[in-house]
Amino acid sequence: MNRSVYNPFQTAQAQFDHAADLLELDQGARDLLRNPMKEFHFSIPVRMDNGRIKVFRGFRVQHNHARGPAKGGIRFHPQETIDTVRALSMWMTWKTAVADLPLGGGKGGVVCDPHNLSPREQEQICRGWVRQVLKNVGPYSDIPAPDIMTNTQHMLWMLDEYEAIQGEHFPGFITGKPVGMGGSQGRTEATGYGVMIAVREALKELSVNPENTTASVQGFGNVSRYAIELFQQMGGTVTCVSCWDQIDQTSYAFRKKDGINLDELLSIADPFGGIIKEKAADLNYEVLPGSTWMEQEVDILVPAALENQLNADNIKNINSRVKLIAEGANGPTTPDADQFINKKNIFLIPDLLANAGGVTVSYFEQVQSNMNYFWEKEEVLGKLDVKMTSAFIAVSDFAKANKLNMREAANVIAVSRTADACRNRGWI
Ligand code: NAD
Repeated sequence: MNRSVYNPFQTAQAQFDHAADLLELDQGARDLLRNPMKEFHFSIPVRMDNGRIKVFRGFRVQHNHARGPAKGGIRFHPQETIDTVRALSMWMTWKTAVADLPLGGGKGGVVCDPHNLSPREQEQICRGWVRQVLKNVGPYSDIPAPDIMTNTQHMLWMLDEYEAIQGEHFPGFITGKPVGMGGSQGRTEATGYGVMIAVREALKELSVNPENTTASVQGFGNVSRYAIELFQQMGGTVTCVSCWDQIDQTSYAFRKKDGINLDELLSIADPFGGIIKEKAADLNYEVLPGSTWMEQEVDILVPAALENQLNADNIKNINSRVKLIAEGANGPTTPDADQFINKKNIFLIPDLLANAGGVTVSYFEQVQSNMNYFWEKEEVLGKLDVKMTSAFIAVSDFAKANKLNMREAANVIAVSRTADACRNRGWI
């Protein structure tokens, strides 16, 4: 993993600077938008199952709330850093703006590895996180959600802690809750499906029939599973997926040239999205080094694992057949890799747009929670399709009209909408 080599916050700021230059943004707006407005750093003491106290480091960053309450996930990761959380909070501001949701951007994290924590210890981390930021989050100020290695159960523990302290019900405090406990139908599928709705629209522009396309996907977690599901429903073939192996502490790619079987791989995956390689080999998958996922001879690459996965060291290894990259993960491409992709004329759907389906249905969940009335799954997924399609068309039209690539267009639209909101409020 290249997490330490590239600083995602520097990437986010470089992307912002470029958008600000294109917009000829004034210095005041740059100074405000280039950094988060608020940051919370805290310690979460937890009595572990062995009776000892262990202190975990937690963060919440609120980048901007001019367009509405801050919104963004909480990640559990052993290498979590404040700069990763800062970058992700900034990207959330841009993402909610591109999707045209009445929300701002935030992100949180805890430096921990849930693989090595019992459910009780994880519950204590969740409850401790809420106690530390209680006064600074809430349904009308900052609404957390799940992200890497956090799930519906973690969200429910957090909600329960918030409501227990407040003494009232606030189902709109957090999203990603279980269905039946304030969660929205379709939230689990939303990010992955959204990625493929964007791919569908991009293929239309490229005049390519999805039924004739192949894809390789990095990651086998929440985003990639549903992206694969919808892509297969569209008639596409996924030939390779890669994921992290917790035991070997490395990644592997699993290839079947005539197409992977999603259900089969799901049946041999752990709850964190790792595929058990011995079982995959028994099912006749080729087990390859993880890095080979991007070298496959396919039409579409979907990085849906971590940031910085397409970078200067490896971008030249992508196969010349690749015509489309859809960024399921946040920040999977470094700026130098971005330049290479541009030069090769590969159509790139940037993260802000490609994975906006998650926050879109999170917003739907919040709306449903606040009114305590819940929609059917078809209604949620229909509304998701409308939002994703119109966001894609807005970015693509803007790109064509202004001779920009898709990332530049998405960034310029997002920064411009956010700067307008700040200006309208009289902040700048
Ligand atoms: P997840 O924890 O469910 O899955 C992550 C997957 O990545 C797992 O399969 C894991 O094995 C794999 N992985 C980790 N390190 C790897 C490596 N070095 N090489 C190959 N595979 C590796 O996470 P997720 O929710 O699917 O999120 C994936 C990405 O999408 C993250 O960047 C996240 O920020 C972003 N994202 C998620 C959502 C959401 O709704 N879940 C929304 C927007 C963006």
